[in-house]
Amino acid sequence: MMKSDASAGPPSPLDSARSYGRAGSSMQDFASQNPCTWCDGCGDYGIWTAARSALVDLHIWPWQVLLCYDVGCHGNMSDKIGGYRFHGLHGRVLPLAAGAALANPTIPVIAFGGDGASFSEGVGHLVHAVRSNYRFTFVMHNNANYGLTTGQASALTWQDQKMNSSPNGIPETTLNSMDFIFSLQPTFVARGWSGDIAQMSKILQAAIRHRGFAYVDMLQACPTYNKFATHEWLMQHCYDAATEGHDPKNFEKARALAVDTQNRVATGILYQTEDVPAFHERLKPREGVTTTSVQEVKIVDTSRWLKAFE
Ligand code: SF4
Repeated sequence: MMKSDASAGPPSPLDSARSYGRAGSSMQDFASQNPCTWCDGCGDYGIWTAARSALVDLHIWPWQVLLCYDVGCHGNMSDKIGGYRFHGLHGRVLPLAAGAALANPTIPVIAFGGDGASFSEGVGHLVHAVRSNYRFTFVMHNNANYGLTTGQASALTWQDQKMNSSPNGIPETTLNSMDFIFSLQPTFVARGWSGDIAQMSKILQAAIRHRGFAYVDMLQACPTYNKFATHEWLMQHCYDAATEGHDPKNFEKARALAVDTQNRVATGILYQTEDVPAFHERLKPREGVTTTSVQEVKIVDTSRWLKAFE
């Protein structure tokens, strides 16, 4: 472990990308020959394109980023994109990404998950990722159902919708995901939708630059199983809040705007503060440390301790 007089700690994720001093990457650098398995018209195509576009615009190369995927239709993106990739267990992408970001805070970490896993199997991880303010980006593919397993209702499926698992309409109350996230005192909340690639790319660039946990609610068309929030519905209802003068520094206004989806759906960066230190910046033993945990890994001879059990 190396310490310096400076208390700033290791460099930010984007410092390492810039330090290569090379011309920027291109969309082709993140391309894959693997065939796409998403349905025609799936919103995953747009989010996939926006993710690559954001990385290219930030001059990040595939070997300078870690992309972590949960289980779900979105997770098939792990086969179709360049970069270090990890496809984890259902609902567990957040602790995986948090561990990676803590071990090596010099590379950007982006986690992708769906609304099913994020608000049911993995909801506990989501709570602690927000309140801990780990430094990484979470892209929540919100198609309001479990698409990979053929259209079961999730906690975010609209009230009374008939789904494959609930032919009479879902009996439970729909979880208000944005109200839930804001109740956890987040430091970055944004919302995009899968038909606006340019806006999604801008949101993702801001999220990757954010010095904490960046929550991105990505409304995603699922033409096969989501017959209520279709691409056309999203196109008609979504609007860019910035065009109406929204101030993303105002927590209460951002929360009200995010929650109110009755007639229109506000998109863009809804809330951001960098006044709250990230988790790794609050760790007393790491104050002034300029090396990363990954750099500090070394082989230790444990035989003298094991001898105590002989
Ligand atoms: Fe996309 Fe829905 Fe098809 Fe899954 S089921 S690939 S989310 S359209």
